[in-house]
Amino acid sequence: MVRFMRAATRKKRDYMIEVALRLFMERGYEQVSVDDIITATNTSKGTFYHYFQGKDEILRDIPRKQMSIINEWAETTPSQVQSLESHIHRLFLDLASNIQAYPRLIRSLLSLTLQNEALKSIDEEQYQLLSNRLLRWLPERDKVNLLIAAYRGTLWMWCSQEDTDLLTMIRNHLTWVWSGLRSEQGTPSIPIDTRLVQNVKEANRMNIAIIGGGLAGLTAAAYLSEHEGVRGVLFERSPQWGGRAFTYEKSGFTLNYGAHAVYGIDRHELTSMERELGLSFSSKQVDKRKVMYCKNDQLTPAPLDFVNLMRTEILNPIQKVRFVGEISAIIAHIHKVKNYETLGDYLAQSDADEDVKELWEHLVCSNFFITPEEARKVPGEVISEYYYNLFLSSRPVNYVLGSWAVITNQLRQKIELPGTWEMALQEGVESIRYEDKKYVLKTKNREQAFDKVIFAMPVQQICKLMKGTPWEPFLAPFEGNTATEVMVYDIGLNKVVARPFSYISDMDNKLFISDVSATDHTLVPDGGQLLQGIAYLSDNFSNEEERKAYLDNKTKQMENLFDHYYPGWRDVTAVKRVSKKAMVSSVKNIVTNQLLPVRLENVPFYFCGDGCEGKGELAERSFSSARAVAKAILENIKTPVRV
Ligand SMILES: Cc1cc2nc3c(=O)[nH]c(=O)nc-3n(C[C@H](O)[C@H](O)[C@H](O)COP(=O)(O)OP(=O)(O)OC[C@H]3O[C@@H](n4cnc5c(N)ncnc54)[C@H](O)[C@@H]3O)c2cc1C
Repeated sequence: MVRFMRAATRKKRDYMIEVALRLFMERGYEQVSVDDIITATNTSKGTFYHYFQGKDEILRDIPRKQMSIINEWAETTPSQVQSLESHIHRLFLDLASNIQAYPRLIRSLLSLTLQNEALKSIDEEQYQLLSNRLLRWLPERDKVNLLIAAYRGTLWMWCSQEDTDLLTMIRNHLTWVWSGLRSEQGTPSIPIDTRLVQNVKEANRMNIAIIGGGLAGLTAAAYLSEHEGVRGVLFERSPQWGGRAFTYEKSGFTLNYGAHAVYGIDRHELTSMERELGLSFSSKQVDKRKVMYCKNDQLTPAPLDFVNLMRTEILNPIQKVRFVGEISAIIAHIHKVKNYETLGDYLAQSDADEDVKELWEHLVCSNFFITPEEARKVPGEVISEYYYNLFLSSRPVNYVLGSWAVITNQLRQKIELPGTWEMALQEGVESIRYEDKKYVLKTKNREQAFDKVIFAMPVQQICKLMKGTPWEPFLAPFEGNTATEVMVYDIGLNKVVARPFSYISDMDNKLFISDVSATDHTLVPDGGQLLQGIAYLSDNFSNEEERKAYLDNKTKQMENLFDHYYPGWRDVTAVKRVSKKAMVSSVKNIVTNQLLPVRLENVPFYFCGDGCEGKGELAERSFSSARAVAKAILENIKTPVRV
């Protein structure tokens, strides 16, 4: 209210509040009547009641306004958020700017809050709201408490010092708090040679092109942009950044095109990046007790940890002992699976019960997004390494709060900050050639020469771009790689129809439903629900008709699963997206495929993306290969220092 009134009206109202608060301070709140305020402000009863319903309202007006600022802030949709840190910073600055014009008034208000129950209660209400709203984005109570304490402490300091600027104080203090929170996680491990960060002349900068603005391209560019000896162009042919991890808004729902979960975040490449690049984001663990497997129409806990393993009915007690033994062997790095070419080979010779074998197969299906037949083709060594990390993780399945846009927005910000990188959106690279010791890239807008080129795109597309170049033969072994494709069935519901579980995996039909909004409530309008169904697809068809019938059947199975666990969903569906061919991984990690190394003999380029060699699966491989590429380039830069 204070903000939107005409200036003269606001002045008069503020004056009345200020005088009233002074009287409250001098005589005590209970001893001051409305008549006293009218006399002291030389106004009439009519004027007083025009502005206020009663004496209490004077006191409550400011915290009430602060609460409406907090609520407005909470309505920001995730894709509008640049970074978690700046988003939270913004809130405190908005709160401060709403009161900074009234230092005397706030001083009285704070003192009165200590004495007056009515004020104390609305003050508590205000900070409770602030805490709850912050927890939605930063679900770590200690950090939220620290930020609020810093804000409140700053208010007291400001009130007790004359001529100080509240906004500057808040900015400074919160910057220190954030830097403390960040350094708690360690210091950058890619050292930046500060001597190189001095006046490197434009001509001496290494000029790098990155083709592809998905997670891999953005990651490589973010690392490289930290070095002053490097400049470059990031080319992206589509109208948006993020590639298959891009996020979009529809009818108030925030939909991830692809990536949702971070598997084993405490051991994930993203955690190293968070530290090294100074990213800030929150993640929330999917409630393990609500992760279920469905077999023969029966639901039972998925054996994600010891508690679930004891409760699950997938295995009998003897089989459970056997499975615990398998997990322990993986954790100790002594599991025999790593010595077998494929999971199938290991299972074929294993003396374990069929149920234990089926569980292995199903775990691999769900983590690699593939069918059981193909789960058997995943190399033993890949299985051993992947589950070594996952079983040791204390946070096996996490969602990035506010969608992956929170990550991609920060990577973009980081790349743009130094001013040495050009972000070329909707500019696909059409060809590449070698000329005058440089690599010339052609797009619809330009031909430009570069010292180095990084390919950050699906391997199949790299092979296409290399057609007719001298490097084509070296890429040939990777041309036949097959991708992992799934059917995606996203539905945004106007209301929560049922919330029995967070994840239901149908073991019989090889599909699963995630109640995404049960973990990340920032993605839905108030009271809404976002469900994502995914079906693993076989790609073994003799003709197109057969493939179509298979997909139609999968759609039916998916809708049946929705009907079963989320009855009534059809009546409240506000948003629906069905994609029958979404590429989860550009190279399926099975023994008949070959991941592309980040460097290839006889080829002068660098490669990164989820089809390249690197740590982890899916998005983690995009991050890890891109980070490896950036590190390799930075380690080789011997830029002469020019001061
Ligand atoms: C339905 C689905 C669910 C998923 N779930 C998860 C999950 O839960 N967890 C997880 O970790 N991962 C998940 N993924 C996988 C994850 O989204 C991808 O691994 C990751 O986004 C790949 O990033 P990338 O940068 O390697 O490739 P991309 O995202 O494909 O980026 C490549 C970019 O290159 C651009 N490009 C191509 N050719 C050119 C050219 N000639 N010139 C310029 N630009 C070009 C493309 O437009 C694209 O933007 C999922 C994917 C899907 C589809």
